[in-house]
Amino acid sequence: MSVASKNPETIVLHAGHRADSATTSVAVPIYQTTSYQFKGTEHAANLFALKELGNIYTRIMNPTCDVLEQRLAALEGGVAALALASGQAATTFAIMNLCQAGDNFVTSTDLYGGTWNLFANTMKQFGIEARFVDPSDPENFRKATDAKTRCYYAETLPNPKLKVFPIKEVADIGRSLGVPLIMDNTAAPIICRPFDHGAAVVMYSTTKYIGGHGTSIGGVIIDGGNFDWEKDAARFPTLNTPDPSYHGAVWTQAVKPLGPIAYILRIRVTLLRDIGAAMSPFNAFQFIQGLETLPLRMRAHCDNAIKVADWLAKHPKVTNVIFPKLMSGEPKRRADTYLRNGAYGALLGFELKGGKEAGRTFIDALKLFYHVANIGDARSLAIHPATTTHSQLSPEDQLASGVSEGYVRLSIGIEHIDDILADLDQALAKS
Ligand code: PLP
Repeated sequence: MSVASKNPETIVLHAGHRADSATTSVAVPIYQTTSYQFKGTEHAANLFALKELGNIYTRIMNPTCDVLEQRLAALEGGVAALALASGQAATTFAIMNLCQAGDNFVTSTDLYGGTWNLFANTMKQFGIEARFVDPSDPENFRKATDAKTRCYYAETLPNPKLKVFPIKEVADIGRSLGVPLIMDNTAAPIICRPFDHGAAVVMYSTTKYIGGHGTSIGGVIIDGGNFDWEKDAARFPTLNTPDPSYHGAVWTQAVKPLGPIAYILRIRVTLLRDIGAAMSPFNAFQFIQGLETLPLRMRAHCDNAIKVADWLAKHPKVTNVIFPKLMSGEPKRRADTYLRNGAYGALLGFELKGGKEAGRTFIDALKLFYHVANIGDARSLAIHPATTTHSQLSPEDQLASGVSEGYVRLSIGIEHIDDILADLDQALAKS
């Protein structure tokens, strides 16, 4: 069932599921099945021909995943979603649904390292060119666009720089040229809704805040249903020319009776069908549990992060705190424009006077914070990028990516603020 509420707190509990149609179970059941009994040969044929929508095989759809998809689509203000095995799978499919060999897309340089690698190396293997541009000037996206540019890609709140992306500015440039903007909103669920600012597609690594408890890897793509894929049809051959793998279906035409879901439906019935990377029903269940408390947890994460940033800014051993609320000029304006509810996210960085050695000592001295290469867990997490995630980069490239020798990244959890500050305090005393 759909939920009339516009409030995230209600949507995450009620959208996409009220009570199970088969059992009246209130909790979303885990449909741990590979396949579904057809009612007869005509029913089976209709499902395969997409004349009727229904369950065929769990690689392509599953009722537990379906609830997660409906809930996330409702939360974001999109029209439909697709759950996948990981955030990386979501990014890969989001791009490959539009780009073929010989095509290009323009991407912000401020990206998660795994996404950078996927774009710079693996996409290249498929003949797809990623054009990296500095997002501090949105016009860079226009300059890098040509007739073969199929989409733009960026993260809302990329770490380690934590400079909020100019969503509307770039979405507007894209719309004027007929190019859709895909936003990775992993670090800013609830506090940012990219569709409100003109993005066409949103993706998440659900592994982070949406799951929230560090138990499961997953990803999702959400279709805003707000982009006209037919207007500049030549730019989107995958959606506007006959698909030989589906009896010559032209997706923008074939899907029309179902609503503006050509983009997301094509991913499900072609890329997911062919490549796999499906989310398991059990993981979907875990993400549904996480999602039900996401608005509460995000508030707690973000409130704690503000308190940590303000506290660190006054600490004598800290030379610099990287946190959107403490920025000035254009980065602060963007943070205030695109992040809502007085929140600035729950990731922050800081630099220690003592450089690399102090960063190391600090991390080793932490007792409450976990030392892990993850973000968005309910627990507080820390890492020293110069000796871990960014250690393969040259010192110059480390600096270009926003990582100085003494930079420490924190993902602030929802523990009591006194305990978080006490742990930071004792670790700073040793570093
Ligand atoms: N996007 C962002 C911003 C991330 O931080 C990550 C993982 O750290 C990913 C995407 C990839 O997600 P996953 O690890 O679920 O594949």
